[in-house]
Amino acid sequence: MSIQVFGVPVSRGVAIGRAVLVASSRVDVAHYFVAPDDLEAEVQRLKRARDAVAAELSALQRDLPDDAPAELSALLDVHLMLLHDDALAGATKDWILERHYNAEWALSAQLEVLARQFDDMEDPYLRERKADLEQVVERLLNALTASTGAAARSDAAVPRDFAGEDPLVLVASDIAPADMLQFKSSIFTGFITDVGGKTSHTAIVARSLDIPAVVGAREASRIIRQDDWVVIDGDAGVAVVNPSPIVLEEYRFRQRQSQLERARLDRLRHTPAVTLDGQSVELLANIELPVDAASALSSGAVGVGLFRTEFLFMNRNGELPGEEEQFQAYKAAVTAMQGLPVTIRTVDVGADKPLDQMSAQELRHEHTLNPALGLRAIRWSLSEPDMFSQQLRAILRASAFGKVRVLMPMVAHLSEIRAGLHAVARAREQLDRRGQAYGAVDVGAMIEVPAAAIGIDLFLRHFNFVSIGTNDLIQYTLAIDRADESVAHLYDAWHPAVLILIANTIRRARDAGRHVSICGEMAGDPAFTEVLLAMGLRSFSMHPAQIATIKQRILRTDTTRWTGRLQDILAADDPQAVVHA
Ligand code: PEP
Ligand code: MG
Repeated sequence: MSIQVFGVPVSRGVAIGRAVLVASSRVDVAHYFVAPDDLEAEVQRLKRARDAVAAELSALQRDLPDDAPAELSALLDVHLMLLHDDALAGATKDWILERHYNAEWALSAQLEVLARQFDDMEDPYLRERKADLEQVVERLLNALTASTGAAARSDAAVPRDFAGEDPLVLVASDIAPADMLQFKSSIFTGFITDVGGKTSHTAIVARSLDIPAVVGAREASRIIRQDDWVVIDGDAGVAVVNPSPIVLEEYRFRQRQSQLERARLDRLRHTPAVTLDGQSVELLANIELPVDAASALSSGAVGVGLFRTEFLFMNRNGELPGEEEQFQAYKAAVTAMQGLPVTIRTVDVGADKPLDQMSAQELRHEHTLNPALGLRAIRWSLSEPDMFSQQLRAILRASAFGKVRVLMPMVAHLSEIRAGLHAVARAREQLDRRGQAYGAVDVGAMIEVPAAAIGIDLFLRHFNFVSIGTNDLIQYTLAIDRADESVAHLYDAWHPAVLILIANTIRRARDAGRHVSICGEMAGDPAFTEVLLAMGLRSFSMHPAQIATIKQRILRTDTTRWTGRLQDILAADDPQAVVHA
């Protein structure tokens, strides 16, 4: 039977594929297809892992002290039994042989199937055996990881459309922003999660992957089953599970239409973004990793307006990247942009972008009640002077290879402005002492807390440029957690207070002769293009995939027609209605 699951639309387009359910804790399990010639070896790899776990469990049992409770030995018996049960061992082998999944993926797929069967059991004793099964699978996954290095893993991977496999869509309760990154070269054509809001970082990374996505769909991972056919409608924010043939045909038609539309927009790539009345507009790219510079360039971006460096800091088992490693990463982005400017934002961790392994600071942070109001972004950097200096030196050194700007997130206080600028000056001195080269670097601030937007003149006196982070500005102005799906309907970029803050920031910056840009998600949303142009914005930074759509909008806009309406829009109870009228 066909079912619809509703959520928040975050990345446009239609994806149709078979569901791959991944437990949140297992999103980082490797997912790749195994070539036909290697299938038998993959089954053997699984078998070796099983033998290793069997030996491990037997040894545990043998070494149990004499006075150990009898339940402990019985429990190990259960684990051994589950390990060899055909429902796990046999079925996992089938996922490998029939679907060509790698062993880790096959195991997690089968675990999802079995876990649901356990959940449906009446008998509470049997229901609780699910935890045992999970422990056994965990041991197997560890044994597989121990037997295979990451390099061997990626060597074995084959591309997505291998052997005419069905396309796949990912279904998960939640995906951490850092885990999303591994989908950059993904086998998935779309995804849906139970949690998240429109500008949660998971959603932002999804948009940067340019695959249809729906978040905040609450029950999705419970309703959708492994292998169901699912349509993900990233425009409407809905997933259709096991659609009828007629609905499927309708979506396939829409999919073809949107591919044609994209191909058409692609032709605008090298057209300068100029409005009908001759106003030039700068379209920049937001990137997460140096490799994204390639798509920034090919999308026709004239620079990088936001490089979110925090993604270099995530998933590193507690070890932060050193100066040299960061320097190489920034240099790679700068050289890839071939002389175009690259705006490198200093690390912005915290709130919904945690580092996975906690440093002492994060541990403190995790235990604060309001992480979005806690030790994040520039506050964290200033509390870690050595880490901050390393990053600033790495950025400055990269500026010897192209045009670089430094951008500081979440600045609100004069003391932070002073300390941030002082840290840059200190980093320059350190490089001077070492005799290392660096170029002229403009330093800017994100305007993303209401205090900064209201007190913008203070920022304009101290910084060379400003960039408006609308994602956080909306969150903090309206007191709506951007990652919380239960209040996602209140997260409203059209709120008059938000528009007034943005308009004020742009006007004051222009009056002061300072460069001003928007790098939040509003910049890439065509619903706002005209109104932002009317406010005087001439620099937009967004995911590379959004550039062509915004450019098309700009090419069709006459700003003189809009500037006269701006005051009415800003004074309206419902600005969106006025704009649409
Ligand atoms: C923003 O807040 O608008 C922004 C661009 O920064 P981030 O989304 O990384 O918080
Ligand atoms: Mg922000």
